[in-house]
Amino acid sequence: MSALDSFHDDLISCPLCSSHQSTPIYVVDQHHRSDLRPSVKIVKCTSCSVVYLSSVDHSFQSDLYEYYSDHILCTHTSSKAASLNCKSYLRVLRKLQKYTSSSISSILDVGCGDGSFVEFCIKHGFNCQGIELSSSAVSLAQARNLPVTLSSVFDLNLNSHSFDLITLFEVIEHVDEPLKLIERLASLLSESGLLYLTTPNFFSVERFILQSKWPVFHSEHITYFTSYQLRRLIQQRYPTLELVHCSTRNVDIASIFKILSSRSKKPSPTASANQATQSLRRLIYSNPFLRLAKLIVDLILHLLLIGSTTVIIARKRSPSIV
Ligand SMILES: [Zn+2]
Repeated sequence: MSALDSFHDDLISCPLCSSHQSTPIYVVDQHHRSDLRPSVKIVKCTSCSVVYLSSVDHSFQSDLYEYYSDHILCTHTSSKAASLNCKSYLRVLRKLQKYTSSSISSILDVGCGDGSFVEFCIKHGFNCQGIELSSSAVSLAQARNLPVTLSSVFDLNLNSHSFDLITLFEVIEHVDEPLKLIERLASLLSESGLLYLTTPNFFSVERFILQSKWPVFHSEHITYFTSYQLRRLIQQRYPTLELVHCSTRNVDIASIFKILSSRSKKPSPTASANQATQSLRRLIYSNPFLRLAKLIVDLILHLLLIGSTTVIIARKRSPSIV
């Protein structure tokens, strides 16, 4: 009997189509982290082909928000990492401005973590607020007087059509009901407002190489989208949204080598892998030839949609068109 056959838990229905029919594809060992369940099962919906976690335990998830705050957010607040983040944010905002005829003024960052993007936007003259479910992360943000609220987007009283830009950096893979989340966010966008969404790409080089060792597989992440699935989702399910951009970016070479060379079954993907990735990013940004090489790699990833991260931009349609 294989590990897949012997694994028993309470299967959830597919987060996209609600089908209860699925095929198990991986059992993922999590023994390297004592704060997680020993293992989780990843399944593929036989109806719509989306890949998702077979069961969700929210008691673990609430603890994990604290884990993120303690182990990951702190690595992002070092001055060098913050400087890299600022360059990335600037690129994102410049890129987004090209997709809308009106200037971006009001911004909502959903799942904003410790508020680094909110802080950047406010410093650059935008009207920006964030919402976040981790109390530790919210405390860090509020200690810096940032307008960050401990809430979900469903519980907070926000005015419809009030945001020119809503950002979701690596958030949609965490939520129980991704379809409802996008619907709610679409209702909050102003006319020609933009939804900017990033998430790990299941159809990526990294996942093909690492298989069940792909560090994205764990009990915090419920849905594992491919770029194609997200693109089709926006195009087919949301008449108020127009897909204006879909791409993938990055191959995390440092993490792939670190995981493949590790003797343990599945090393921690968090702090040390993040540091290796940050070092590699610094090296690339400091060398013009490496930057050019990265541009070429990014172009290939863009054409094949096999990069590690999917980037989606959708624009709110004019009511007359809908
Ligand atoms: Zn499905």
